Amino acid sequence: MTTVPPPAAPVPEPISPVQAAALRDGVLPPVEEVRPGIWTLAVPFRFGVPDATLVYVVEGTDGALAVIDPGWSADGSLDELRDALVSVGRRLEDVSLVAVTHLHADHLGAAAAIRAQTGARVAMHRLEVEALRREWADAVANDADIATWGLPEELRAGVVDAWGSGRRIGLGRTSEPYADLFLDDGDALPIAGRTIRALWTPGHTAGHLCFVDEADGLLFTGDHVLPRINSGIGLGGRTATNPLGDYLSSLGRLDVYADLEVCPGHEYRFRDVVGRAKTLALHREERSRHVARALDALHEPTLFEVAARVPFSGGIESMTGFLLASALTQTAYHAALLGRSAEIRPA
Ligand SMILES: [Zn+2]
Repeated sequence: MTTVPPPAAPVPEPISPVQAAALRDGVLPPVEEVRPGIWTLAVPFRFGVPDATLVYVVEGTDGALAVIDPGWSADGSLDELRDALVSVGRRLEDVSLVAVTHLHADHLGAAAAIRAQTGARVAMHRLEVEALRREWADAVANDADIATWGLPEELRAGVVDAWGSGRRIGLGRTSEPYADLFLDDGDALPIAGRTIRALWTPGHTAGHLCFVDEADGLLFTGDHVLPRINSGIGLGGRTATNPLGDYLSSLGRLDVYADLEVCPGHEYRFRDVVGRAKTLALHREERSRHVARALDALHEPTLFEVAARVPFSGGIESMTGFLLASALTQTAYHAALLGRSAEIRPA
């Protein structure tokens, strides 16, 4: 069947002319000072879309540097970060903390290399470390789910390769999963003279954190809220809760930060996080309606048959591997949120 994509939602304007120009020209944006002693730079990520991560560097009053989401390092080299720090008169050796929003390789990837080269402590939510340690067990458990989805035979192997036991475990890691410091909701990052607090925002992954710097008027959102991309849901291993429900609650947690400038993990900085969160929540409501309509129309469908009626951008017919797995799991989360999981027949 043909599907009609939903009308394009409005997206926020970039704050920074250099980030906007870089995006238009398809190049990495240059280092930029966001606030006195707070810089952003971009690090390439060669394994997926988006293909660059925005990294933030925060200087304490003692001169020590904290890095929020160091991005990806293919081989342990830290050239972009080192060069960026030199360009603003600082040194890689001054990094004493790496704070990570979530476990994905394009955010956490370079943490181990920085730690090895500088002795910096790595800080993240406990759930992310647990998910990384469970990665293989989760992938094997996913195989059993995939077998029930009713996938056409020719698509199944690609989904197992991307989502199940065929997936690359440990992509972007050069050491065992670890953290020197677990961050809980409300914890302040150990940066001298600044108060930047962790805000637990599960959904994209179970232990996703945003970081709130009210004094500087900044909200670091990782992949929880991006200016143009709809964040993926439930991409941090298996959870006991519905990641979609978690995500919607986490969007609601941003309501009190309407005045802060948003520093996301990709694309560009923008304002009006509340407006953007509302757009993202509306997108989810719309998708829930499509899943409900599919369930109304079909008798004992498989998950694949339900998902085939949801107008994912590009259409499910064009999807394979990771994208297809993500579309199917999202469909399952929507059905669960509607209280209608039982209507889907395991194949
Ligand atoms: Zn990301």
